[in-house]
Amino acid sequence: MTPYPIDETHDAGRTSWVPGADGHSDFPIQNLPWGIFSLAGEAPRAGVAIGELILDARAAMPDVAALSGPTLNLLFALDPSERIGLRRRLSAILSDPAHRESVTAHLHRAADCTMHLPAAIGDYTDFYVGIHHANNIGRQFRPDNPLLPNYKYVPIGYHGRASSIRPSGVPVTRPNGQRKPPSEDVPSFGPCRRLDYELELGIWIGQGNDLGRPFPIGEAQRHIAGYCLLNDWSARDLQAWEYQPLGPFLAKSFQTSISPWVVTAEALAPFHLAQPPRPEGDPQPLPYLWDEADQASGALAIDLDVHIRTRAMRASGAAPHRLSHGPATSMYWTVAQIVTHHASNGCNLSPGDLIGTGTLSAPTEDGFGSLMELSRGGAKPLTLPDGETRTFLEDGDEITLSASARASGFVSIGFGECRALVAPAS
Ligand code: MN
Repeated sequence: MTPYPIDETHDAGRTSWVPGADGHSDFPIQNLPWGIFSLAGEAPRAGVAIGELILDARAAMPDVAALSGPTLNLLFALDPSERIGLRRRLSAILSDPAHRESVTAHLHRAADCTMHLPAAIGDYTDFYVGIHHANNIGRQFRPDNPLLPNYKYVPIGYHGRASSIRPSGVPVTRPNGQRKPPSEDVPSFGPCRRLDYELELGIWIGQGNDLGRPFPIGEAQRHIAGYCLLNDWSARDLQAWEYQPLGPFLAKSFQTSISPWVVTAEALAPFHLAQPPRPEGDPQPLPYLWDEADQASGALAIDLDVHIRTRAMRASGAAPHRLSHGPATSMYWTVAQIVTHHASNGCNLSPGDLIGTGTLSAPTEDGFGSLMELSRGGAKPLTLPDGETRTFLEDGDEITLSASARASGFVSIGFGECRALVAPAS
């Protein structure tokens, strides 16, 4: 099913000559995520994270044309076999000490670099495949019937806004918009009162498909270049008033934050799991969404975390507080099913398109992926360790998403941070 082999680049025994890489929780040599970085006064270019350093990939491999641009779109457009070849070459360069002398000059401290969006994102689509999230949210509106009848047949999604996607570290400005709580007869325009985050995985599209030419699910993995963390900031009061009948619009389009490192599909080869079986009585997916190999290996062994740090916590030097922790296996549809469905009508996907999975909540409260769920729609405030309470986000709050992939016998790899501070409405 997956075209991505487990090879010497995943070997737990492989070490790097780069100081601090071995044992690094996110970026050991088994990861090698791609990103776009810049040094002060220099143009953005392709890099690879290794420990606390960034390898200037273009300087280290000047013959690779796909690394010549200011984005990774050309790299994403490569055939998977070419990306696998690049990974093996990078892994050899950073593990064999014979390369140390020539490559050291191309390593930069990540702390001295600025990270940019990894790709020119042509289109962004957000799905809704987190089954526990869909149940939790649906139950707030329809206690007896949380899932609509299409949910178990159709991977539900909507077209998001690509222009407002920003990398980790860029603050999110509280949006203004129309608010109409049930207690008020008419809407008013002003700052969002129910600002929320959504914990999601982002999927980077690799090779695209031509308009009018869908692909079978057995080929879906070939169209996936890699993954990131994605925070689908959500203005719940704006959303509740505007979403019918066409779905999310201004409640979501003000900003989406992503982690800047692309953890490649090839790096994640060892971290695949069987898709959890559908509950008894659920319908069999239609044939175009069904693939036995995908069911056997289409889920991802990734653990996800959300932390909050308020202004008061920063002032007192308190550590970020974990809001949730849970696995990414709560997806009712696999990544292959999502991507296949997206193109099934002939819609063309392009290298550098971004897809969100939808909020990934665990079945239990300690893994709920949004404040809407944790605070029961604002009815049950959370108490933080310093005594502050929250139903939704306040100005000065900082939200950080993080994740790591784990599998027995392999070195865990991480995603880095997706972090942003809430700035006051303008
Ligand atoms: Mn979302």
